[in-house]
Amino acid sequence: MPQLIRVDGFLMGTFVQISAYTTENRAKTLQKGMNEVAHLDALFSAHRSDSEISLLNARAGDSFVVLAPETNALLKKALYWAQKTGGAFDPTIGPVVALWQIGAANPTIPHNIPLQRAIKRVSYRDLVLSNDAVMLRHEEQALDLGGIAKGFAADHVASFLKSQGIKSALIDLGGNVVAIGKRADGKPWQIGIQDPQKPRGTAIGSVSIANRSVVTSGVYERYFEKNGKRYHHIFSPKTGYPVENGLLSVTILSDSSADGDALSTALFVMGKRSAIDFLKKTPGVEAIFIEKRGDKTIITLSEKLNKQFTPRTTHYALETFEGKNP
Ligand code: AMP
Ligand code: MG
Repeated sequence: MPQLIRVDGFLMGTFVQISAYTTENRAKTLQKGMNEVAHLDALFSAHRSDSEISLLNARAGDSFVVLAPETNALLKKALYWAQKTGGAFDPTIGPVVALWQIGAANPTIPHNIPLQRAIKRVSYRDLVLSNDAVMLRHEEQALDLGGIAKGFAADHVASFLKSQGIKSALIDLGGNVVAIGKRADGKPWQIGIQDPQKPRGTAIGSVSIANRSVVTSGVYERYFEKNGKRYHHIFSPKTGYPVENGLLSVTILSDSSADGDALSTALFVMGKRSAIDFLKKTPGVEAIFIEKRGDKTIITLSEKLNKQFTPRTTHYALETFEGKNP
C-alpha cells in the first residue's frame, strides 16, 4: 500500500511542506526537494545580503551581473508578467517594500517624501535582461520577488519530484500549492481556500484538483494594524500604498505555479473588474475572488470552477463569471 510521507521546513519566509504517496519510503527524495527550495531561497532572497538578487540590487545603475540559470528564468517570468499586466505586477517594487517593512519587526507607514522617491524608482521597464546578464538601469532601484518566487520554487520542486518518479504529491509553500497527480485513492486533491476573515486554517471552501497549482494572495498573509486600520503587503506600484479595492483575496488555478503566483498578486492589484477582463484574454487560468462589499462577503468564481469548488459555509454570496475557453 502506498504510504504518506512528509517533510517540513521554514524557507522563503514561510512554512514549506512536501507530502507524497509512495510505495517505499522516499523521505530522502522529499528532503532533496526541500533542499532545492533552500537553494532557490539563497539565490532569490531580498533579505540575505549574499543572494543574487541582493547583488543585483547593490549593482543597480552600475553594472550587469551574471546570474545562475534559475535566477535568470525567474526574472524572465517576472518581466513577462509585468509586461502582460501593464505593471500591476512589478518585480521592481523593492524600494516600496523596504519602506513599509511589513512582516518585519517594526513596520511603519512611510512619510510622503520618501514614499514618492521610492515609487519613482519602481519600473519593470528598467529591468534589463541581456542573455545571462541582468541589470537595473538606475541607482537605488531594487527587485523584490516576493510575489512570484514561491510559485517558481513550487514548480521547480514539482519537476524535480516528477523526475524522481514521484507520481502523487502535494507541495505547499505557505499556501502556494502544487498537486502532482491525484491522491493515492485515485481521487483529486482537496485544497482548502482560506477564509480571509477567520483565523488561519479556517477554509471558506475547497477546490478539487489534479496536476494543477492553486495560489492565493490575501490581505491576511502579512499586515500590521495602526489606529484600527490594516496595512497589508500587496502594494499599488502607482501609489506605494497597500491596495484597497474591496478584495480580501484572489486565488489562481493554473498549470504553472509561478504564473499563478504572479497573477494572484497582479489581479489583486488590478481589482476584480479589470481582473475579470484580463482573465477573458488569458487561457488556462481560473480564479476565485473574495471581496467585501458593504457588510456582505462575496465569492466570485470562474464558471469552470462551479463543479470544482465546494463552499464550506453558506454565509457568503456566490457568483460566477465566464472566463476564456482554452
Ligand atoms: P503575494 O503574497 O504572492 O501576493 O506576494 C506579495 C509580495 O510580493 C509582497 O510581500 C511583496 O514582497 C511583493 N509585492 C507587493 N506588491 C507587489 C506588486 N504590485 N508587484 C509585485 N510584487 C509585489
Ligand atoms: Mg503572488
